[in-house]
Amino acid sequence: MSLSGQNIVTYSPAYTIVPTYECFNRCSYCNFRTEPGKSPWLTLEAAKEIFLQLKNQNVCEILILSGEVHPHSARREAWFERIYDLCALALAMGFLPHTNVGPLSWTEMQKLKTVNVSMGLMLEQLTPKLLNTVHRHAPSKLPEVRSQQLQWAGDLKIPFTTGLLLGIGETDADWWETLTAISESHAHYHHIQEVILQPHSPGTVQTFDAPPFDPHQLPTVIAKAREILPADMTIQIPPNLVEDENWLLACIAAGARDLGGISPKDEVNPDYPHLQEQELRNILESRGWELVPRLPLYPQFDEWLGAGLQQQVQEWRERFKL
Ligand code: SF4
Repeated sequence: MSLSGQNIVTYSPAYTIVPTYECFNRCSYCNFRTEPGKSPWLTLEAAKEIFLQLKNQNVCEILILSGEVHPHSARREAWFERIYDLCALALAMGFLPHTNVGPLSWTEMQKLKTVNVSMGLMLEQLTPKLLNTVHRHAPSKLPEVRSQQLQWAGDLKIPFTTGLLLGIGETDADWWETLTAISESHAHYHHIQEVILQPHSPGTVQTFDAPPFDPHQLPTVIAKAREILPADMTIQIPPNLVEDENWLLACIAAGARDLGGISPKDEVNPDYPHLQEQELRNILESRGWELVPRLPLYPQFDEWLGAGLQQQVQEWRERFKL
């Protein structure tokens, strides 16, 4: 089975765990965060219970998605250790971790590489204009901080996923600028496996008062992104945010080839439940597309992993017959 086959669309059988919902940023479109100190952190015991239940469900990827503790906070070290320990536990129980927990220090990123098969961070948009609007109270959303994370991931040989959030006050020109920056970073490091195009989809908690990103526009953005990005980068769209199946199919026709982690709950967009695998499969098959599982690591990056991780990845490839 080839992941680059012409009629193949991939997804990752995944489960998301959240070390903490607390976050020192306050992005005005957020439907995820709680105030610092206001939500208990996920314990290793509770995570182990979850992993035990997932054991026979064909879940491969554990996505570790967290709110952020300030880099200068006295609690940062404990926060980081909890994330590291959760990744190590997921690995020890046979899963493949992928961490996306905001900007990391060089040392933090280096340590997490040893317990993750890939990592991610949305670039969102590079335009500094958003620092006066949706990111006014979000120090982690400084464009230069996020661009640096892409570089560090490349320097450390970490297979990486990034992406754009569409419809938060940027212009068309801003999209092309951000996509070009991703493309240039990849030209240097060859480390980006996927680019997510995530349409802003209002939730019940956010304060940002704006309409959803027009799904009719998404195929056009995807087609243009496909021109800007090199062919070895896959374009991913979250199918729960493109609710009309005709528009989902239009996105695939325009060049999207991955649906990301299909997990029981989209933690970032909790108001938009995922269709499950069989429903997505039926929609895609109606136009001749085949939905196949993939790992959170694309095969061209296997050799970037340590021997233990490579072994675990190989076992999953055999299990999924990839
Ligand atoms: S979007 Fe992410 S960084 Fe922004 S407030 Fe929410 S959890 Fe924090």
